[in-house]
Amino acid sequence: MKHVDVIVIGGGHAGTEAAAASARRGAKTMLITIKADAIGTMSCNPAIGGLGKGHLVREVDALDGLIGRAADAAGIQFRLLNRKKGPAVQGPRLQADRQLFKAAIQQRLLQQTNLTIVEAEVTALVFQNTAVAGVRLATGDQITARSVVLTAGTFLNGRIHVGDVSWPAGRMGEEPSQHLAAQLHDVCPQTGRLKTGTPPRLDGNTIDWSRLEMQAGDDDPTFLSFLTSAHAARQISCGITHTNAGTHAVVRANLSRSAMYGGHIEGVGPRYCPSIEDKIVRFADKDSHQIFLEPESLSNAVIYPNGISTSLPADAQEQYVRTIAGLESVAILQPGYAIEYDFFDPRQLTATLETKATAGLYFAGQINGTTGYEEAAAQGLLAGANAAASALDLPPLVLSRTNSYIGVMIDDLTTFGVTEPYRMFTSRAEFRLSIRADNADQRLTSTGRDLGLVGGERWQIYSEKQNSLTAASQSLRNEKVSSRSLSEMGLPVAVSGPNRTLYDVMSIAGVTTEAIADLNASFAALTADLQQQIATEARYAQYLGRELADAEKLRADENVKIPKTLNYQDIGGLSAEIQRKLISHAPTTLAEAKKIEGMTPSAMLILIAAAKQWPRRALAG
Ligand code: FAD
Repeated sequence: MKHVDVIVIGGGHAGTEAAAASARRGAKTMLITIKADAIGTMSCNPAIGGLGKGHLVREVDALDGLIGRAADAAGIQFRLLNRKKGPAVQGPRLQADRQLFKAAIQQRLLQQTNLTIVEAEVTALVFQNTAVAGVRLATGDQITARSVVLTAGTFLNGRIHVGDVSWPAGRMGEEPSQHLAAQLHDVCPQTGRLKTGTPPRLDGNTIDWSRLEMQAGDDDPTFLSFLTSAHAARQISCGITHTNAGTHAVVRANLSRSAMYGGHIEGVGPRYCPSIEDKIVRFADKDSHQIFLEPESLSNAVIYPNGISTSLPADAQEQYVRTIAGLESVAILQPGYAIEYDFFDPRQLTATLETKATAGLYFAGQINGTTGYEEAAAQGLLAGANAAASALDLPPLVLSRTNSYIGVMIDDLTTFGVTEPYRMFTSRAEFRLSIRADNADQRLTSTGRDLGLVGGERWQIYSEKQNSLTAASQSLRNEKVSSRSLSEMGLPVAVSGPNRTLYDVMSIAGVTTEAIADLNASFAALTADLQQQIATEARYAQYLGRELADAEKLRADENVKIPKTLNYQDIGGLSAEIQRKLISHAPTTLAEAKKIEGMTPSAMLILIAAAKQWPRRALAG
């Protein structure tokens, strides 16, 4: 019988990061997955990063994970989302060539020491008392291990739906995992069903591109990895088109045939990622929805129409896509579908993603109720690092809401659980001014190095960058300029004002990094990215204090009672969704309100103010 330190079940985004992280920490690791060739498959949209998700990718990268570098290697269009907003809420995103992404992940795993890959289905976990002791394979073989990370994605009791036709599957073309699902129901009884969907794939050769607006990527790309400095693949544009009254009429006429609306699916889907059926029912007043036509690869003509996922029957899908400008003669290569699968209530996990009931057993990715490659990768890295820690008796990796989006996600999942597929948003992070995508390495790389997660190459590049940042930042803090000279430079500063450090000058609106570079050689020597990062820190410095004060306020007011008569619908600034959740949960204290899933720090601050003002407001009213 074979023995390893750590077994990782699953070769998706969680499993690959878990296996690589465990191996980087020195644990003899085995990644077992049903189809080795499918390792690193992007099950749905060919894009990585985005708002909140880009932060997660940068954090995984800062801990020397795979997803950022693999995505950059496969990137065929890079765009920084929210470019016009502040750096705290900007999200680096790219469209990836699926084949190139998969190849980059597989290549990195093959090069990883301490890691073996086995193609097999795990049919059962093996236990010894209250601890996990290994796994059993479909072949009957048994492999023992000190810890096991389960990352089975949408495969546990997975069922695909296209209209009223449905069949068991892990995702299109792959078998589900049923034996393991049956056993897990006994081990972790708090399970539920979730669902997600994907659009039909289109043949790009049958699209009339001449009728479409085209969108190119950014001229100055923002890469996902701190180690990338240039494009690796040819860059492409994507097309933009829209649904119209004709499209909506076809969807409406076929609603009862949709798997979702025909009552064939019990699982809950992601509300913020609605299917075309959802859009037409929920936003009935809108007569058009935007669709991005995204090429899936440089080496084939498959197009992913982003914005029209569906579980309508195949004939209705063909009918509605052909009502759309540019798609009048389009051929569908693979119909859209919905998939339902088992997930486990993540409140059964600790902050290391170990199950509370079974020592050494870790869960990561979609099975914890999340959706998205980035969320899965981040959990995978954390679970893999901790599985290695438990196997080798090393310090654990525990992240908090104050230092990372990963910490925010793990805290949200393990404290609040999920009622719908969980995805990351910047609004979930109360410390978002300080935990930005641009400074993920400064927040995490050194911790990763201490834990043996970060290799020599990254550490050297990071250390050099840190040295230049610290030197330039110090130089700016040491150098003072008079208000007179600032005023003479045309800055909005009173001539009689005090002298200021160049660091403080940078926080004045209208001061450019070029102007500061003209005044300070150490700053001028930095790359544009690093100059921008110091400028961001300087501009946010005054708000960071306020952020900490708000966090303190949240903590201090936790025991304040919420008046029974408080009418949530009267509180301005609360979203309709939060109002609905408050009404249904009826929390009696602010601490209880804070535990409601989806409750954001800003909503909490509004609620605190309303709860405290209520008697006065009620009397005044
Ligand atoms: P997966 O990527 O699903 O990987 C699971 C792995 O586990 C696979 O390698 C599988 O072979 C392996 N496995 C399972 N059972 C066993 C077993 N018993 N033994 C051995 N190996 C096993 N995300 C979004 O963000 N937006 C979307 O719009 C979106 N739509 C989606 C639509 C569909 C149809 C699907 C299938 C997924 C969609 N996703 C979407 C989700 C996204 O694909 C997942 O969040 C992400 O892939 C999860 O990563 P994971 O590692 O947890 O699981």
